[in-house]
Parts: sequence; C-alpha cells; structure tokens
Amino acid sequence: MTAAGRYDTIVIGVGGMGSAAVYHLARRGQRVLGLEQFDIPHDLGSSHGTNRIIRLAYWEHPSYVPLLRRAYELWRDLEHLAGERLLIITGGVDAGPEGCPTVDGSLLSCDVHHLPHETLTAAELHRRFPGYRLPDGMVAVYQPDGGFVLSERAIVAHVMAAQDLGAEVHAREAVLDWEAGGAGVRVRTARGSYAAERLVITAGPWAGRLVPALSRTAVPERQVLLWAQPRRPEYFRLGAFPVFNMESPEGRFYGFPIYGVPGFKIGKYHHRLEHTAADAVDRAIHPEDEAVLREGIRRYFPEADGPTMAVKTCLFTNSPDEHFILDRHPEHGNVAIAAGFSGHGYKFASVVGEIMTALALDGRSRFDLGLFGIRRLGPG
Ligand SMILES: Cc1cc2nc3c(=O)[nH]c(=O)nc-3n(C[C@H](O)[C@H](O)[C@H](O)COP(=O)(O)OP(=O)(O)OC[C@H]3O[C@@H](n4cnc5c(N)ncnc54)[C@H](O)[C@@H]3O)c2cc1C
Repeated sequence: MTAAGRYDTIVIGVGGMGSAAVYHLARRGQRVLGLEQFDIPHDLGSSHGTNRIIRLAYWEHPSYVPLLRRAYELWRDLEHLAGERLLIITGGVDAGPEGCPTVDGSLLSCDVHHLPHETLTAAELHRRFPGYRLPDGMVAVYQPDGGFVLSERAIVAHVMAAQDLGAEVHAREAVLDWEAGGAGVRVRTARGSYAAERLVITAGPWAGRLVPALSRTAVPERQVLLWAQPRRPEYFRLGAFPVFNMESPEGRFYGFPIYGVPGFKIGKYHHRLEHTAADAVDRAIHPEDEAVLREGIRRYFPEADGPTMAVKTCLFTNSPDEHFILDRHPEHGNVAIAAGFSGHGYKFASVVGEIMTALALDGRSRFDLGLFGIRRLGPG
C-alpha cells in the first residue's frame, strides 16, 4: 500500500488493456495499483503470440476509425518512451468475394474517413504480393497503414512506463472479489485487501467472473494460431507481405508476415467454435486444430505450406454483437469496465487505456462511445 494506505485507482488485470490503463492513470497523476493473477506478460490470456494486426480501414464499423487514429499516435508515443519498435507497418489487405461485409465495410470506412486505399483483383494482388493466391472473384482492399503491434512487448512497455511514473503493479496476485460503495472500493486478494477511490476492470476472458452481469455477454472462446515455415520465404518477409483479414467460404482467416517466429502466422476467427470457461480452456493442440489452419494455407497461401514452426492456443472474449464494452458499471459510477473485445481488440489497447482513464476520472471520454455501452446488451 502507499504511505497513505490507500490508492486512487486499482486496475484488475494487467494484460493488453490493463497495462495501458495503469500507464494512462499514472500519467494523469493517479496513485495506481495494478493487480495481475499471472506473470507480466504471460501466455494464458488473450494478448500473447508475438503480435496483433492493426488497420485503419475498419470493416467492422466506421465509428472505430477515430479511436484507431489515436491508437496509432499512442503506440508511437509508447515506442518513443520504451526506446523500442512496437508498431510495424506492413500494409494491410481486407479481402473476400466482391460485396462481402469485409470488403464493403472496409470501403465504407475509407469513404467516411477519407482513408488512402486501393482496390485490387486477386490477380493484381498476387502480382504485387506473390504470397497471396486468392481465387478469381475475390477482391482486396489494400491499405498502406496496416501492420502489427508487438503485443507482449507493448504490455511490458506500458507497465515499465507506468512504474516510471510511480505506479505499483503486482503480478501473481489474483483478485478474489471486490466491492464498491459511496466511500470507494475495496479489492480482496489472497495476499491482502486494498482500498481505492475507484476501480478499472480489464480482466479479458475472466471479465464474467469479476462482473457477473458480463457472464453471458463477454464469453471466452478457444482460438489457435499456427506458424508455418514458407516454401518461398521471400514471399512472406516483412516488406513483401501485408497483414490480412480474409473472408472465404471456410471462414475468416487472418495472417502476418514472418516475424519473431520463423514462420508465416495464420489464424481463423472463431476457429472451431469452442466456447469455454477461461480457466478450463483446452490448451493441448489437436490434429483438427492444425487441419483448420492448413486448409486456409493450402487454398490461399500455398507457398507457405511448409513444416510447422509453432502452434498456440489463445482466448477471444465475445460480446453478442462483437463490439467492445467500454463503459462504467451500471450500478457503480466509480467502476469502469473494458471487456468483450471479440477477437479484434488489441490494436486499440493504447487508446483503451486512455479511454478507461477518462471514464474513471472524468465519467466520460472525448470519443463517441455510443457503440460500446454496456446497457445495449441488456441484463446479464
Ligand atoms: C489468437 C488471437 C488472435 C488475435 N488477433 C488480433 C489481431 O490481430 N488484432 C487485434 O487487434 N486483436 C486481436 N485479438 C484480440 C486481442 O488480442 C484481444 O482483444 C486483447 O488481447 C484483449 O486484451 P485484454 O486486456 O482484454 O485481455 P488479456 O490481455 O488477457 O488481459 C486480461 C488480464 O486480466 C488478468 N486477470 C483476469 N482476472 C483476474 C483476476 N481475478 N485477478 C488478477 N488478474 C486477473 C488476466 O490474467 C489477464 O492478464 C486476437 C486474440 C486472439 C486470442
């Protein structure tokens, strides 16, 4: 505890979002305590596996674009503070059959926000980036701003920047429960009990455990990532291969150029549709897991179909409409919640930290959070 025996703000969960919240709270002069149940960083939640795609032409909804502009700025600020590269621009591709939600949504965000982009046929995409072999009839929206964030390194950078500002962070200290009232909040762990004025909950797949109202609206789902050694590595190197999101008859794949692990990285949204409890997730890798991802590689990126380099499980936390939950607790004005990132949240972590800080300290954010209110989901 601090000398005063009390913190201004406690953050529960120091993963992607929580590490950014701890930093932004400290930056605004708060005495902050961040509590993390595992290590910092760790590979049991949602933010591990080296990197996460960032893109500006957001097919999911144009309302995300102002947040993304700020997220890019804040990632650059964090790089500067940390003295290391955290955001790598590769260009980005949103692909699928002409008229599909991914392509049309991406083009809509480009129109609404005047974003630089090009629309390419499958053949044009292949000529420019030979690692892509999409079938005729698929189109690609190419955006120069796409790339990836080094997610685990960025958690470390946020925590170190927060510590430099006086924040206290405890790893391996799980929060058992919390209560809030007019006099502030109290948080109980196996090691002790802490008091503060306010609370920020950024518990990722464990959100429903800490906020029962989220147990049916922030639902964990098992995911799998695979890295394959390309047969033509030159097609999949940084500079030769943009990150992608691709809608196909088999589902939505996403992928990255070679970085950090000696392989082309691919995943499929909602993988094998396995909802789970965060603590009960099956972390073993089964032949069926590889088969799902190999199918995507063979059909669309055949030159990447070499030996497996790594496979990892990870967790999505899905809201019913797959939009985020960024709001104050419906019953406690001094508790702010970030949850339900539905497999596309990491790129926003930098700005979510700033938004959570504004919600906790000012009760509102300068961004339009209309899409992200907790009440839209009805009672838990
Ligand atoms: C395979 C995969 C690929 C993805 N790809 C992308 C992508 O390309 N681009 C993108 O933008 N997003 C992507 N996402 C989504 C993105 O990674 C997540 O939205 C983001 O990481 C969520 O961050 P979080 O802080 O909510 O969760 P986490 O980083 O998991 O953090 C939550 C933290 O809370 C801690 N915690 C929970 N309960 C307690 C407790 N009781 N006490 C103490 N600590 C607690 C946990 O241990 C954890 O560290 C992907 C996700 C997965 C799984």
